[in-house]
Amino acid sequence: MIAKRVRDVPFSGIRKFFDLVMRSEGIISLGVGEPDFPTPEPLKDAAIRAIEDNYTSYTSNYGLLELRERIAKKLRTRNDINRSPENEILITNGVSEGLDLAVRAIVDPGDDVIIPEPSYVSYTSNVWFAYGNPVTVPTTEENSFRVRSEDIVERLTKKTKAILIGSPNNPTGNILRKKDLEEIAGIAVEHDLVVISDEIYEDLIYDNEKHYSIASLNGMGDRTITLNGYSKPYAFTGWRLGYVAAAVEFIEAMVKIHQYTQICASSISQHAVLNAFELDDYVRDMVKSYDLRRKLLVKGLNSLPDVSCIMPKGAFYAFPNIKETGLSSAEFAERLLKEAKVAVIPGDAFGRSGEGYVRCAYSVSRENISGALDRMQKFMEKL
Ligand code: PLP
Repeated sequence: MIAKRVRDVPFSGIRKFFDLVMRSEGIISLGVGEPDFPTPEPLKDAAIRAIEDNYTSYTSNYGLLELRERIAKKLRTRNDINRSPENEILITNGVSEGLDLAVRAIVDPGDDVIIPEPSYVSYTSNVWFAYGNPVTVPTTEENSFRVRSEDIVERLTKKTKAILIGSPNNPTGNILRKKDLEEIAGIAVEHDLVVISDEIYEDLIYDNEKHYSIASLNGMGDRTITLNGYSKPYAFTGWRLGYVAAAVEFIEAMVKIHQYTQICASSISQHAVLNAFELDDYVRDMVKSYDLRRKLLVKGLNSLPDVSCIMPKGAFYAFPNIKETGLSSAEFAERLLKEAKVAVIPGDAFGRSGEGYVRCAYSVSRENISGALDRMQKFMEKL
């Protein structure tokens, strides 16, 4: 009784792996891609106040106007993106919903969407569920997992509708440089394509690298759908709050779907974000802590036999190369789990070009990172 499109999609490789983790005990998990910090106190207090003050009804389909105004200001000052809070910003139930809306708003059956990979697990399946055709473009460790424009151009067809990028990237931790984005923008303008840009890890960036929004580049303002949200910077993945910024035509199309499927984003989460102040210090402290964990993990991974890892520049993932072990990603991750009780995600869960790698999240304590590295050292010696 299940539709073919849905039957054709396998469960996320992450989920499959987690079923295994759940059945085992004493595991150190580098698998979960979410902050281990508690949500900052001002947000918790503001959410409790929102409930006590009875801000518990539906909001406008677009979300609270005051919050959209705040977002518009942030986009203007930080991202050099100019969008009207009235009708060019939509508040969503996380970036996940924004991604689904963006894809469904623009993809007709059979349209191609170009996706550099390894990529976040939802990108290809969202395109597939929208009756589109995900066209993946492999990236390589040698190029720091940055997509090359010639590899995109090679895959363009008459059916190509959009390019979907995520930077900083899950799972590789790479970031696209301004030059990379300019090249992608050039292709989009020349071939009249939409760009969907997932910027959820914008705040989690290290080594004085800078995040650029492709929407701010020449010719891109009206053809880019920018996705962003609060799950990662505010450490509240369960609160489900994100937003989309794009030209009015895109947002109107997305609101059509959103009003019939979601009505609005959580009123409590919206009020909390609007009324919580001085969050920057919390975010800065979390980023500092991720940075220390990043260095600890990558140094440790590089000291293991048969493992090498390039330094990730953003998000909270390292993507070590395990090809020298002679094991596939899945074999490596399964044996590491069973024999050393350390959970990592097989790289092929993020696309074929992730084969030969595993994803290790460093959104866990330094004690757990050190513990996982000790266990990995013993595992590798036995291997
Ligand atoms: N985009 C990327 C790249 C992610 O890694 C995630 C979550 O891990 C999401 C989107 C989903 O975020 P949200 O919690 O806002 O739906």
